[in-house]
Amino acid sequence: MFIPTVKEIPADAETASHKLMIRAGLIRKVASGTYTYLPLGWRSLLKVIAIVREEMDKAGAQEILVPSMQPKELWDRTGRSTDYGPTMFSLEDRHGRMNVLGPTAEEVFTTLVAGEIKSYKQLPINLYQISPKFRDEFRPRFGAIRSREFIMKDAYSFDADSEGIEESYKTMYDAYCRVFKRCGLEYVIVEAESGEMGGSGSHQFTVPCESGEDTIVYTEDGSYAANLERAAVDPLPKEKANAEIPPMEEVHTPNIGTIEAVCTFLKTQPKDMIKTLILWNPSNQQVIKVMNEYASIHRNGAESLSLRQSLAAAGPYDIYAILIRGDHEINFEKLTKLLGPGVGLLEYPDLIEDITGAKVGFAGPMGLDEEVDKMIIDHAVAAMAVGVTGANKTDYHIKNVVPGRDFPLEGDNVAITDIRYAVEGDKHKGKKLFFKKGIEVGQVFKLGTKYSEKLGAKFLRPDGHEAPCLMGCYGIGINRILASAIELGNDDNGIIWPISIAPFEVLVTSVNQDDDKVARVAEDIYQQLLGNGIDVLLDDRVLRGGVKFKDADLIGIPIRVTVGQKSVAGGNVEIKLRCESQIKKVPIKKAADKTIELVSSLKERLKA
Ligand code: ATP
Ligand code: MG
Repeated sequence: MFIPTVKEIPADAETASHKLMIRAGLIRKVASGTYTYLPLGWRSLLKVIAIVREEMDKAGAQEILVPSMQPKELWDRTGRSTDYGPTMFSLEDRHGRMNVLGPTAEEVFTTLVAGEIKSYKQLPINLYQISPKFRDEFRPRFGAIRSREFIMKDAYSFDADSEGIEESYKTMYDAYCRVFKRCGLEYVIVEAESGEMGGSGSHQFTVPCESGEDTIVYTEDGSYAANLERAAVDPLPKEKANAEIPPMEEVHTPNIGTIEAVCTFLKTQPKDMIKTLILWNPSNQQVIKVMNEYASIHRNGAESLSLRQSLAAAGPYDIYAILIRGDHEINFEKLTKLLGPGVGLLEYPDLIEDITGAKVGFAGPMGLDEEVDKMIIDHAVAAMAVGVTGANKTDYHIKNVVPGRDFPLEGDNVAITDIRYAVEGDKHKGKKLFFKKGIEVGQVFKLGTKYSEKLGAKFLRPDGHEAPCLMGCYGIGINRILASAIELGNDDNGIIWPISIAPFEVLVTSVNQDDDKVARVAEDIYQQLLGNGIDVLLDDRVLRGGVKFKDADLIGIPIRVTVGQKSVAGGNVEIKLRCESQIKKVPIKKAADKTIELVSSLKERLKA
């Protein structure tokens, strides 16, 4: 058996699962974010796949397989070739046609259904696949947790009406609960944003653990749980000023543009600063083109164009001023929900100067509402009694700025809302919010008609009218399930697998393989277990017991049957669970039966 275990901790591995998957011989790195799965790793993956497949089939979904390499044109039709950005791999074929390597497969599934489904009588339908997905992640890391090629189960439901989609969504949601339970994961379900998927509702299945890249935000009573992108915070109570606040006062802050630098210079704190950011939504390619032209003209030292003029021709686009407190982070998911996709920081310093009258770093809200299409003020800024902000004049800031007095808190193009990430101390509907790290293992989305409309997945209703299908999509990260199980189940010596996804259920270790009797007893128990359908591995290597036990602990098979000279002489073998320290002596004759019993009782605990 090819199980290349290693003692050394791999230098580039940060998390327990990454370290252990390499040390236990489950995976080997090929390149950044791509891995070969060796026999043990692949066996475990296959077990996860089998569980997922069973639950999908039970839920009425039907398995198919679509190509990973897909025409880019399909993705252009939904606009997602732009939305996904550099995360999507693309390649040109010999005929000059552009293809992408699917990071997911809404376009292909929806096109399939568009061609085949004609009538409500053929609905609902739920199709899925279990296949490799490709994402050129900005930062592939943590081994199987964020890789560039991974296996995903992705399902797509098509319904005729809103009750239908609710039911399809619930069916998948329930199936997900069973999948993760059966895989031995402790998980939480949180409300999520649907991001570049589009759509109206989403839940994320997250395994709480320290090495997770996601943050779960929840109330202690469990009445609210969301991921950090989504978590809505209550407005803060209005601060009261201790004394009458003097009029605004300009201060010279030469070359001091960052929050930190201003705070040090003015001896104030980030929470007393008002950050003013200029955003826009360059929703069409034309705007970007004009901007690039403009930038190149500038680089060549030519006369400055009137940006506004050259952009006016290319529009439409909006310019926004965003106000948040100096210690808060802007949440682009919330902003996207508010302002639509495509909204982002305005990256052209000249245009910012044109709008604010100052170089980047010195923008402030005074009078800015007249320069932009919309001014969006975070609740927390509106609640400030007084703050420091940029003066709209290069190298100057302004003290004693009072929201409402010195810049408007209302007006046609002024909105006060929630546009930041929740932080410690925030509340949701009056309840304190708590934070926890976690790994997202699956997500379900209600997509509505975004894809079916764009790709023509329409059907005839009973009344003879045509309507687009209502869709849902549902993803599970197969490799992440493995990694999460290891993050939850490990100790200093190695992996502690849940039995359902362990590469083997039982390990028979013969401690003195060179002793014929021991070898025979071990082989005999191994054969009995095999004969009873137990997934069993026999360690019959001629090696010292200590080495074999170390490997056994490292690869983490849930039940170990130890056959050694001493115990065999007394007519016994030893049985030990990987998750317990206790060792039980069992008569040789009863060893197989006892082991089979243990296998079923461990499995019983993971029943959905
Ligand atoms: P993340 O926010 O972690 O990047 P995502 O929300 O973009 O993930 P989805 O599009 O919802 O991912 O994909 C469905 C599932 O695929 C995820 O829940 C996750 O389990 C898995 N997955 C996504 N990206 C990766 C990756 N780079 N490596 C391994 N698994 C992944
Ligand atoms: Mg997701």
